[in-house]
Amino acid sequence: MRRVKSKNIKGRAVKSMRCVNSNPKKSKWGQYAPAGGCDEIVYNVDKETTSALCWKCTSRSVSRTGKIHLME
Ligand SMILES: [Zn+2]
Repeated sequence: MRRVKSKNIKGRAVKSMRCVNSNPKKSKWGQYAPAGGCDEIVYNVDKETTSALCWKCTSRSVSRTGKIHLME
């Protein structure tokens, strides 16, 4: 079972969760996931959030037209 830690920051309930691309097949951003899925943790997202995209996948999605170099 996956445990989700939650806490409060300035009265706002937040949690940390795996990048939604940890399961690229279920993610609508799966095309931006690295091979094998993404292991990034996204911190301090709203407690009600059901999916969060990490900055790495976000940057891949926004720089799709440009070439970015990733350390493999
Ligand atoms: Zn990611």
